[in-house]
Amino acid sequence: MALSQLARSIAESPTLRLNEEARLLKERGEAVINLGIGEPKNKTPISAVVAAAAQLAEGDVKYTPTDGIPSLKKAIIRYTEENYDRLVAPENVIVSSGAKQSLYNILFTLLNPQDEVVILAPYWVSYPEMVKMVYGVPVIVTPEDGTMIPRMQDIERAVSSYTKVVIVNSPNNPSGAVYPEALIAAIVEFCERRDIYLIFDDIYHKLVFDGHTAVPGYRFAHKDVDTGKLIVVNGISKLYGMTGYRIGWAIASRPVVEVMINVQAQTTSCPSLILQAGAEGALTGLQSVVEGLRLSIQNNRDLALRELAALPNAHTAKPAGTFYCLPDLRAYNNNSVELADFLLKRALVVTVPGKEFGMQGYLRLSYSGSPHDVTEGIERIRWALDPEAPNEIYIGDRRMVRDWL
Ligand code: PMP
Repeated sequence: MALSQLARSIAESPTLRLNEEARLLKERGEAVINLGIGEPKNKTPISAVVAAAAQLAEGDVKYTPTDGIPSLKKAIIRYTEENYDRLVAPENVIVSSGAKQSLYNILFTLLNPQDEVVILAPYWVSYPEMVKMVYGVPVIVTPEDGTMIPRMQDIERAVSSYTKVVIVNSPNNPSGAVYPEALIAAIVEFCERRDIYLIFDDIYHKLVFDGHTAVPGYRFAHKDVDTGKLIVVNGISKLYGMTGYRIGWAIASRPVVEVMINVQAQTTSCPSLILQAGAEGALTGLQSVVEGLRLSIQNNRDLALRELAALPNAHTAKPAGTFYCLPDLRAYNNNSVELADFLLKRALVVTVPGKEFGMQGYLRLSYSGSPHDVTEGIERIRWALDPEAPNEIYIGDRRMVRDWL
């Protein structure tokens, strides 16, 4: 019996696959360094642990309202007011099982078959696959060579009468770029004028370095949340390093949220109560954890850049946010899939091929791990690629000799 053609056409998640490969290698005792997955190493904030544990101990864990428990939605409304300067109503908020599910539900809610979604490269791997999963057509805008920032005229050229949505992710996974304020303003203004939905995936919006901030799209919107088509997605995964809690949310107009609630009600019913309680604990607890996390990641970014600078033919745009960078390694190998495979086999370092993000010849490196892993991981890459690097290296207690350069 044939399986669905559409389902079979969906690519597997390369980051989750690589993570699994790294786990298996580690299980075999190999000293693998994982620069693949984007996941901070911090412990869950204590306020989240206490809130989730209290909910569990109550012994009363049932279904919740589909769009989330009112107290968590209240915390999200406060978060939106404080960080976006927008007062939204509970009817504008829907909580889901991760920002990933929020995004999928939004696309399912907005798209008719063949509607186009403009995606700005480098882009998060899941956007094009999600668009295809709801019978939409991804339209990719590539940045000018050597930059990680799309040009407004290229975005305008990509928009056609079939365009329903533009997705913006700044701070950006995988490049770490934060789009300039003028570009954000121009995109908001353009989408309002053309009456196109504009999704801001703001999952990294507080992970910005060097005293800068990511400017919220709302600042340039003339329409309000209910009359406009601007949608903001956010969550606790990156903000508090709570990836395993799987809580994210969307802020959108009431008609969009109403349909999203039906979509969620017919698929997952609601996110888990325990995890919603944990998310509420994080949002209402001490916020200094966010700043602590940001500072440790900024330090890791500096280590990563220092190590990469020693690799003579790599060009890395300095990340202004997130915990990723995307060095251009075309001078070593134009095929990023081959290069990532080579580095995993020879140097036991997990990286993600840039091809997955629309940037062939680049590799995405995550510096969300320990400073030691970031430094040693990139040192190993240098050893494997640079003929000028020392010929031998110790990986764990194994002496490795480079015999391919
Ligand atoms: N958007 C982007 C750009 C991401 O990088 C990620 C996580 N890798 C998500 C959304 C999904 O986040 P969550 O864990 O909340 O599903």
